[in-house]
Amino acid sequence: MASIERVKCLIIGSGPAGYTAAIYAARANMFPVLYQGMQPGGQLTTTNDVENFPGYPDGVTGPEMMIELMDQAKRFGTDVRDGWVTKVDFTGPVHKAWVNETTEIHADTIVISTGATAKYLGLPSEQKYLELGGGVSACAVCDGFFYRGQEVVLVGAGDSAAEEAHYLSKLCKKVTMLVRRDEFRASKIMQARVKNTENIEILYNTETEEVLGDGQVVTGVRVKNNQTGASHDIVATGFFVAIGHKPNTDIFKDFLNLDETGYIINEPGTSRTNVPGVFVSGDAADHVYRQAVTAAGTGCMAALDAERYLAAVESETMAV
Ligand code: NDP
Repeated sequence: MASIERVKCLIIGSGPAGYTAAIYAARANMFPVLYQGMQPGGQLTTTNDVENFPGYPDGVTGPEMMIELMDQAKRFGTDVRDGWVTKVDFTGPVHKAWVNETTEIHADTIVISTGATAKYLGLPSEQKYLELGGGVSACAVCDGFFYRGQEVVLVGAGDSAAEEAHYLSKLCKKVTMLVRRDEFRASKIMQARVKNTENIEILYNTETEEVLGDGQVVTGVRVKNNQTGASHDIVATGFFVAIGHKPNTDIFKDFLNLDETGYIINEPGTSRTNVPGVFVSGDAADHVYRQAVTAAGTGCMAALDAERYLAAVESETMAV
C-alpha cells in the first residue's frame, strides 16, 4: 500500500496566489508543500509583459516573474513539487488530497490556488483544428510567433483580447478582431491601443460561424454579422480565442460551495471556504479582479488565515 504523507499546509497551484501563500506559510513555519499543477507558474507564464505589478518599474515578463516568486517561496523552505492534484476528500477531520491519482496527502490546512483556464467557443471546427494543432490557439503570446508575417483572426473584446491583438499585430501582417457586440468590454486605454494600430481591423457585431481549413490547418474563418445576417469568409492561417476563463475548481465541487460559474465562494473579507481548514486564493474565487497582484494579496490572506486556524486548533488540543 502506498504510504500516506502528513503535511501542515498543502498549497495547490503555482500562480502568484499559490507562491505568495507559500512565502507566508513558509515564514510562519508551516512547512508548506506546493504542487505546481498542469501549468507550472500558472496563467502568467503565457503573458508577455507585466507592467502593472507593483515593484517592477520597467515591467517584467510573466515567466520571469513566476520564477522569481518560486525562488522566493523556496528560499524560505517551501517544498515545490511537480504534480497535479486529481482528487480531494474534505469530509473527515483531516483534509485528503491525491496527487497524480497515486500519492495520498493528509493536510491540516489546504490553500487552493488552482486559477482558471481559457475558454473556447466550442464550435466543432474550432475544436478539430485545436486538437490537430493546426492553427487554433487561446494564447497569442505562446503561439503568435508561428504566424509571423501571416494574417490571423482573433475573437473577443475584453482586455485579454485587446492585449493579444496588439501583441499579434507586431508579428502578423494583419489581425482581424471579431467583436460580438457593437462595443468593447476592454478598458479605454486597451481599446485605444487596438484602434490606433494600423494592421488591426475590428469587425463589430460579428460572430464566428466556422473555422475553415484544409483538413490539417486553418485557412480561414467564416463570420456572420449578427445585425444583418450576412456571412463572409476571411482568409487567415491562425484563429485566436480570447473570450475569458473558467475556474479550475471541478475537483472541489462535491465539498465546497461554488457559484453558478464554478468560482469557489469564500467568506467575505477572508479566504475561508465552507470547510474549516480549507482556504482559497486567486482566480479560483475571483471573477471580478483577476489580476496577479490581487491573486498575490489573497494568497497572503489564505496563508495568514491558515496559520490562525492551525494556532486555534493546536490551542484547543492543548486545552483538552
Ligand atoms: P472578459 O471576461 O473581461 O472578456 C471576455 C470577452 O470575450 C468579452 O468581450 C466577451 O464579449 C467576449 N466573449 C465571451 N464569449 C464569447 C463568445 N462566445 N463569442 C465571442 N465573444 C465572446 O475576459 P478577459 O480574459 O478579457 O479579462 C479577464 C479579466 O482580466 C478582466 O478583469 C480584465 O480586465 C483582466 N485583464 C487585465 C489585463 C491588463 O490589465 N493588462 C490583461 C488581460 C486581462 P462581451 O463583451 O460581449 O460579453
